[in-house]
Amino acid sequence: MLLDTRNLKNFIDEEAIWNTVRATAKPEAARVHDILAKAREAKGLTLEETGCLLQAEDPELNEAVFETARAVKQSIYGNRLVLFAPLYVTNECGNRCVYCGFKADNTELERRTLSAEEIRQEVTVLENLGHKRLLLVYGEHPKFGADWIAETVRTVYDTVSEKSGEIRRVNINCAPLDVEGFRTLHEVGIGTYQCFQETYHAETYTALHPSGHKSNMLWRLYALHRAMEAGIDDVGMGPLLGLYDYRFDILATLTHAAELEKAFGVGPHTISFPRLEPALNSDIAFNPPYPITDTQFKRMVAVLRLSVPYTGLILSTREGKEMRRELLDLGVSQLSAGSRTYPGAYADPNYDRPDVQQFCIGDSRSLDEVIQEIVHQGYIPSWCTACYRLGRTGEHFMELAKKGFIQEFCHPNSLFTFKEYLQDYASEATHAVGTPLIQHEVAAFPEKRRDLVASRLQRIEQGERDLYL
Ligand code: SAM
Ligand code: SF4
Repeated sequence: MLLDTRNLKNFIDEEAIWNTVRATAKPEAARVHDILAKAREAKGLTLEETGCLLQAEDPELNEAVFETARAVKQSIYGNRLVLFAPLYVTNECGNRCVYCGFKADNTELERRTLSAEEIRQEVTVLENLGHKRLLLVYGEHPKFGADWIAETVRTVYDTVSEKSGEIRRVNINCAPLDVEGFRTLHEVGIGTYQCFQETYHAETYTALHPSGHKSNMLWRLYALHRAMEAGIDDVGMGPLLGLYDYRFDILATLTHAAELEKAFGVGPHTISFPRLEPALNSDIAFNPPYPITDTQFKRMVAVLRLSVPYTGLILSTREGKEMRRELLDLGVSQLSAGSRTYPGAYADPNYDRPDVQQFCIGDSRSLDEVIQEIVHQGYIPSWCTACYRLGRTGEHFMELAKKGFIQEFCHPNSLFTFKEYLQDYASEATHAVGTPLIQHEVAAFPEKRRDLVASRLQRIEQGERDLYL
C-alpha cells in the first residue's frame, strides 16, 4: 500500500480553531440562551456556537445545556438505544502509538490473532448472549491486508446457527486502507467503517505516533474520505480524549465532519469520544496530559448532541456505569455492552487478563445486566439493522432521519429486536421488566401503527425472526 499524501491539504486550521476557543470562552448567559433556543430546532450549530456551549461552565448555564440536550435527544431518538459488542480479532500491531497497550514496543503483551475457527467460537459466544451487531477491532500489521480483513468479516457473517442466531451487522475499526482496500470491505458488506483521529493537533499527533503508517497524519485524516469514495456510506470518527485540549479536538472533529459533508453530501454516521484508559506499559494512558473532568465530559456529550443532532453518538465500555447512565439521557444513541478487549476474550475461561488486553474497561457487567438497567431507566435496547439492510444509509438515512423517520420506523424495529431478545436470550429478571415496557410502548402508538406493531410482535412470539419495517 502506497501512502501517497503529497496532494492532500490539512483542512484543520489550528489557528482558526484556537481563535474560536478563545473568542467563545466564558460566554454571556444571554448568548448561551440564544444558542440553546436555536439548538432546540435541531438544525445543528456553528463552530462558534459550539465553542460557547462547550465553555458554558456556570452551573445554571451548564444545567440549561443539559436540559436542552435531553429534550433534543428525546425528540429525535426517543427512548431507544442501539447495543453492540466489540470483537478484537488481532492485537498484533506494527505501530507505536504511545497510549495503546497494543503498540509494537510493548514486549510484555501476549500477541494473538484469531484463526477462522477462533473467530467462529467468539461469535458463537456473542450470539448466544443475544448480540446482533459487532464492531471488529484490529491492530495494524503488514500481515493484515484488506483481503484478510474481508475474510474475517465473511467468517463472522457465516457463523449462523438456529440455536444462537446470527450477526446482522459487522462494523469495522481497523487501520486506514487505500480506496481499493475499502472497496474490498464494502463488497463484503461491512456496516460502518470507524477510524479515530486520536488528536487533530499536528504537533501532538506527531509526538504520539512515532513510527509506522500511523505516523502519517494526513493519511489518517483522509481515511474516511477514501472509505466514502469506495462506497462505504456510513463512517464513524472521534478524538481520543486526554491527549490534547478537548475543546480544540471537538471543534476539529466537527470541522472534519463538515469536510465530509462538503465532499460527499453527508457527514459521519457516528461520532465516538473515548477517554484514555490505563493500558499496559503506557505512562500517558495512566496519566493523560489533558484530562477531561466528568462535568466537562458530560457537557461535551450534550453539546455534540446539539451540534450534530442526527449523528449517532457512541459510548464505549471505557466509561463506568454511573457515568454511562447519565450520558444516555444527554445524547448517547449507541452503547457497547458486555465488552471484552482482547482477542479470544469471550471464549476465554480465565477472562480478565491485563497481559493481553488493549486497556482496562470501566464497566464489566454482562449484556443482560446492562439491559436490565437500561430498561429500568425506561430505555428500549435495540439491535435493529433494517436501514443498513434496506440501503437506507449515508445521505438517504440522514434525509429520512430529519423527517421523523426514526420514531416511525426505528422505534417499532427496536421493539421487534427487543422482543426477540426476550424470547431467545434474556434472563427471567430481564424478561420480567422488559415485557411490560414493550406493552407500554405499543399502547402509545397511534391506532393504525399499533395494530401493525402488535401483530408483528405476535408473529415473533410464535417463532418468526428478523422482522422489520
Ligand atoms: N489499530 C487501529 C487504529 O489505530 O486505528 C484500530 C484499532 S485501535 C485498537 C482502536 C482505537 O483504540 C484507537 O483508534 C484509539 O483511539 C483507541 N485506544 C488506543 N489506546 C487506548 C487507551 N489507552 N484508552 C482508550 N482508547 C484507546
Ligand atoms: Fe496499533 Fe491501533 Fe493501538 Fe496504535 S491504536 S498501537 S495502531 S492498535
